[in-house]
Amino acid sequence: MAVPKKKVSPSRAGMRRSHDALSKEAHAECSNCGELKRPHHICSHCGHYDRREVVPAGDALKAAVRN
Ligand SMILES: [Zn+2]
Repeated sequence: MAVPKKKVSPSRAGMRRSHDALSKEAHAECSNCGELKRPHHICSHCGHYDRREVVPAGDALKAAVRN
């Protein structure tokens, strides 16, 4: 529900904004190429996951990986 700006105390506004902070995105190093990748996702650089190549690097990899 909309509340006039002057009716919200600085304390109340601060309490609301206490949840507004952005958190850092998780990242992990690829065990094959060392590139940073999302944890539990195939590497967008070399296509490896769990120390084996899942998707061949190249155009097929670009189509398979969302960043
Ligand atoms: Zn990699």
